Amino acid sequence: MQKKERFRRFIEYFTEHFPEPQTELNFSNPYELLVAVILSAQCTDKRINQITPALFARFPEPESLAAASADEIFTYIRSVSYPNNKARHLAGMGRMLMERFGGEVPGSLEELQQLPGVGRKTANVILSIVYNLPTMAVDTHVFRVSHRLGLAPLTATTPLAVEKALMAYIPKQHVPRAHHWLILHGRYICLARSPKCDACPLKDFCKYYEKLTGKARVSVM
Ligand code: SF4
Repeated sequence: MQKKERFRRFIEYFTEHFPEPQTELNFSNPYELLVAVILSAQCTDKRINQITPALFARFPEPESLAAASADEIFTYIRSVSYPNNKARHLAGMGRMLMERFGGEVPGSLEELQQLPGVGRKTANVILSIVYNLPTMAVDTHVFRVSHRLGLAPLTATTPLAVEKALMAYIPKQHVPRAHHWLILHGRYICLARSPKCDACPLKDFCKYYEKLTGKARVSVM
């Protein structure tokens, strides 16, 4: 099957069945989303949603976060992965938001990536959700599912290469939703170790499944 056809069927399926996918992180403004996405690296959204109510109550805006010490922030996030690093990042991020961006979450990739704890993936999430821009954040689910479906070539071995491969074929108006579609599919169906292929609605055009049923030897990405 041609790659273009795989993309067409991928978009067609999700547009029909999940027209309005959302992030599973709880937030009520761009600042809260930024904090939640920084915390969610190497951690589950469920865990982040458990700790953010108290965190947001204590630090409801960048100003209070900027005035806090990393030690105090740590006490609110101790149950997430890498709490020491993330506490330092949040303290620095709050200060930079106040000192350089007037307390507002900036709206460009370059500016966002200046913030402590914010890499390309986090910046792309913010641009997509807050600013509704056609950016593709590639996390572990997007990376894996894109390869298995055959949307990204096996030669795309970095998140940036996968991002470029996806952006080359997904029409701009679908990009923000496609990010969520790939994440949710990876989280609930196309699991890393045991993909639920028999129950997967995408198996008719999945490259991994084609090889699997053709008895070809495949590696799980
Ligand atoms: S058929 Fe299997 S490998 Fe392909 S997308 Fe579905 S769960 Fe993933």
